[in-house]
Amino acid sequence: AGSGKFFVGGNWKCNGTKDSISKLITDLNSSTLESDVDVVVAPPFVYIDQVKNSLSDRIEIAAQNSWTGKGGAFTGEISVEQLKDIGCKWVVLGHSERRHIIGENDQFIGKKAAYALSEGLGVIACIGELLEEREAGKTSDVCFQQLKAYAGKFTRAHKHTHTYFLSPFPDAVPSWDKIVVAYEPVWAIGTGKVATPEQAQEVHVAIRDWLSKNVSAEVASKTRIIYGGSVNGSNCAELAKQEDIDGFLVGGASLKGPEFATIINSVT
Ligand code: PEP
Repeated sequence: AGSGKFFVGGNWKCNGTKDSISKLITDLNSSTLESDVDVVVAPPFVYIDQVKNSLSDRIEIAAQNSWTGKGGAFTGEISVEQLKDIGCKWVVLGHSERRHIIGENDQFIGKKAAYALSEGLGVIACIGELLEEREAGKTSDVCFQQLKAYAGKFTRAHKHTHTYFLSPFPDAVPSWDKIVVAYEPVWAIGTGKVATPEQAQEVHVAIRDWLSKNVSAEVASKTRIIYGGSVNGSNCAELAKQEDIDGFLVGGASLKGPEFATIINSVT
């Protein structure tokens, strides 16, 4: 782990029932969690209220998606304002399942991120390459392209409120404080095929370097870059030792309270 506060998110995806979530909450509430870690869980929308009402305030709540702008005539969508109204502090955007199963593109994701940030929601901004992209040596290109889509939109969000600010990249954008970058190689998500600590570290360094060159040295050093992809209670400790891994985004293992607590407590 690097110098930023360790950050662990649990992405529950489209899983759970009132009963199973109630048990998960009980387990999380009775776990001892390292104090020096930011912990966030992302329940399915329909259970956010249940979670908010019974989970310890120690853990913040993220949504798994949000709309690109103010709510209104957008059937089936959920607005940032509504998420804030029910107590969400974060939103997960650009997750590989939304990119590759649902078909969201960089531009759409960037728009959502810019709007969420402009409304004060934190963004867990996911990026990551497909297996064939890795095998073709395109890992960095893909990650940089996805990062650029977020960074460009963040600039525009900033310009919206400070029209005089014309820097091509947001080196003075205050909202970078509310962005956590999640590097999630698609081949590692839900497959049980975790990246090696060296593979993850290598990409995290490249991301930090991109931030330094294209945003600012300060943003590069402060932004948490977390790893996601088959993290579990057994492999988290080795990953957490890497200098540029500032936390995790956890899918499957976040549905088991004690194992999720082990991952949170892997901070080094
Ligand atoms: C995820 O959904 O972000 C994820 C990393 O899933 P899993 O931990 O199950 O691979």
